[in-house]
Amino acid sequence: MSKKDYYEILGVPRNATKEEIKAAYRRLALQYHPDRNKSPDAEERFKEISEAYAVLSDDEKRRQYDLYGHAGIEGRYSWEDIFGGADFEDVFRDLGFGFEGFGSLFDLFFGGRKGVKEPKRGRDLRYDLEITLEEAAKGTEKELKIPIYETCDNCGGSGAKPGTKPRPCPECKGTGQVRYESSRGFMRFVRVETCGRCSGAGTVIDFPCPGCGGSGKVRRIRRVVVQIPRGVDTGYGLRMAGMGDPGEDGAPPGDLLIFLNVKPHEIFERRGDDLLCEVRIGFSEAALGAEIDVPTLDGPTKLRIPPGTQTGTVFRLRGKGMPKLDGFGRGDELVRVVVQTPTRLTQRQRELLSQFAKEGELIGLRYIPRAK
Ligand SMILES: [Zn+2]
Ligand SMILES: [Zn+2]
Repeated sequence: MSKKDYYEILGVPRNATKEEIKAAYRRLALQYHPDRNKSPDAEERFKEISEAYAVLSDDEKRRQYDLYGHAGIEGRYSWEDIFGGADFEDVFRDLGFGFEGFGSLFDLFFGGRKGVKEPKRGRDLRYDLEITLEEAAKGTEKELKIPIYETCDNCGGSGAKPGTKPRPCPECKGTGQVRYESSRGFMRFVRVETCGRCSGAGTVIDFPCPGCGGSGKVRRIRRVVVQIPRGVDTGYGLRMAGMGDPGEDGAPPGDLLIFLNVKPHEIFERRGDDLLCEVRIGFSEAALGAEIDVPTLDGPTKLRIPPGTQTGTVFRLRGKGMPKLDGFGRGDELVRVVVQTPTRLTQRQRELLSQFAKEGELIGLRYIPRAK
């Protein structure tokens, strides 16, 4: 805040009336308003006179200043409090700056106006795509139907019926914001909220466009063909540049982000590029050895079970796993065998097994030593 005397800044005597103070400010604002005066120190001068006017035009703040000087203002009022209490709009309207002038003042003190819309890049769209493990293994092409919001052709995006125009919102006078002021004791509080009438747009539409209902946007389904490379996994993302929502007022469109989810498979469990599966073998197959059919992504293939195979043994089928995403080679398929104990024996099987048991079945100790 300024260190100079507010009365000196405005060039008025200490006993100046409110009218004299306002007249002095009006004269100086006309001279130093940055919209008019492009000299480098005009902006600083304009801030100074605006601050002086904000304080001296308010009875309570002027009283504090008269009694305590700058100390009566600093620490007691925020910038928002100081400017919220002053009648700038009236002065600027008289000067012909309108609310733009008021906006410029806010830019100077608060660094940028809030709530004013700038052309925005279109939104990125997210699409979750579910594919099967087989599709992930072989690669696939999918046609997606993406709902997007495009500028309405009928009204050119204004939302107003052709031949009519949106007009500045009467509630917020086109700023998109509403200021609420309240006083508690000698403190004045200013609250700035998005205008409820226009939702911050600053304009209202009296005759909505029949094409879009006043939103300026129409929903359309865009068909996008996407190539899914071989070897993808859940969590893999594809970004399609420019396939998102269109931007406003010529701003670039957003992107389409596709997130892949590979559905769980009935037989295979994926571990990176390897596939795991479990197959059952009979206990005579485990003991005598066998050649069995096991499933792979390329169809059934033969697996030789050597004699004396224990339950839980894992066999590795090289190159029968998932293709690597970088295009070089494939992972393996790991086949875990589970020896099945028969539960419903025929009379004949029971006799044979009894004879088998008499020959002596277990080799070694009954207990399994703990692994060290
Ligand atoms: Zn409004
Ligand atoms: Zn429209």
